[in-house]
Amino acid sequence: MTIFSKIIAGEIPCYKVAEDDKFFAFLDINPVNWGHTLVVPKQETDYIFDLDDKQIGEMMVFAKKVAEAIKKAIPCRKVGMAVLGLEVPHAHIHLIPLQKEGDMDFKHKVENPSPEKMKEISEAISSQFKG
Ligand code: AMP
Repeated sequence: MTIFSKIIAGEIPCYKVAEDDKFFAFLDINPVNWGHTLVVPKQETDYIFDLDDKQIGEMMVFAKKVAEAIKKAIPCRKVGMAVLGLEVPHAHIHLIPLQKEGDMDFKHKVENPSPEKMKEISEAISSQFKG
């Protein structure tokens, strides 16, 4: 079971943003920018491009809805999207609010994000999510 499956199962806490029957979204614990969110399929697959066409299409539609909620909740010009997957072997999309190109730099991290602010942000995004 991956760490993301444990989060989805409620065995590990997270700052949840959204959920439907197939996908789950929560804040990245080590955000590159405030509002940095991960979208994951509930079914475990390591490499995102091993998902079949239907699954990857549905994941993109779910990620779009999460991105719309982020855009409403967090002041930003656009929401950027990235796929890395080098750390956690459970397919996921990173959604990151952007003001400038550098906001997508994975070498930059928010310093000591407080639990209070993470909670506030997850609730703000969640309240804008239209499933
Ligand atoms: P990557 O697999 O390279 O796309 O990176 C995995 C991402 O998952 C990193 O940005 C981590 O900060 C994030 N991450 C790892 N564990 C957790 C967790 N328990 N809760 C939230 N995000 C996590």
